[in-house]
Amino acid sequence: YLFGRKKATEVAHVVWEQVIQKGDMVIDATCGNGNDTLAMLKMVTDDSDYFGGCVYAMDVQKDAIESTSSLLNQTLGSKESFSIYAEGMQKERVKLFNMCHSKMEEIVPENSSVRMVAFNLGYLPGGNKSIITVSNTTVLALRAAERILMPGGLISLVVYIGHPGGREELEVVEAFGSSLPVSDWVCCKLQMLNRPLAPVLVFMFKREK
Ligand code: SAM
Repeated sequence: YLFGRKKATEVAHVVWEQVIQKGDMVIDATCGNGNDTLAMLKMVTDDSDYFGGCVYAMDVQKDAIESTSSLLNQTLGSKESFSIYAEGMQKERVKLFNMCHSKMEEIVPENSSVRMVAFNLGYLPGGNKSIITVSNTTVLALRAAERILMPGGLISLVVYIGHPGGREELEVVEAFGSSLPVSDWVCCKLQMLNRPLAPVLVFMFKREK
């Protein structure tokens, strides 16, 4: 099931499904065009809205926030895909922030239980390739994610290595994951041996107490 998936992000989604429960609060730290935000929304909510659940999604680019908003509006407005969803529900269940992910603690309500913080690093596909995640703020965001994540939660990263700076960013992510105490965290990476430039998946699970 896992390896039948073509794209790294699809593989990540399969892992998320094992961790996320209906009603959870999750963070999309790089919402871009909104594909991951939408996938998360489907995992935390149900058709009847019985459980609640919410996605906090952020991006440094205003274009990305608009793109995510428009994908959500299109999808949630389409009767075929979400028959029972009330129109405009995304306004309630997804909160969009035009900001750097290193500041994520500023927007998460105090004492919240955050089940997942997901990063899809690099640049916005179809957008400005010079606006890109960088190691400095990525590591600050990872530290913030570590602080706010609930036990039983997941930090998920899709790391691209084909562009300049990508491999360095992967090294920083790996160093961060390697430094987390083994008593509290399970950290691993998934890398394609026969596709050396394929994105690398990194998962950091916070153990239940
Ligand atoms: N998850 C997105 C999707 O499903 O379409 C794709 C994300 S794209 C690979 C990476 C995104 O990270 C870009 O939209 C970029 O603007 C954003 N980004 C770059 N630096 C950032 C930062 N410091 N904080 C938040 N977002 C950032």
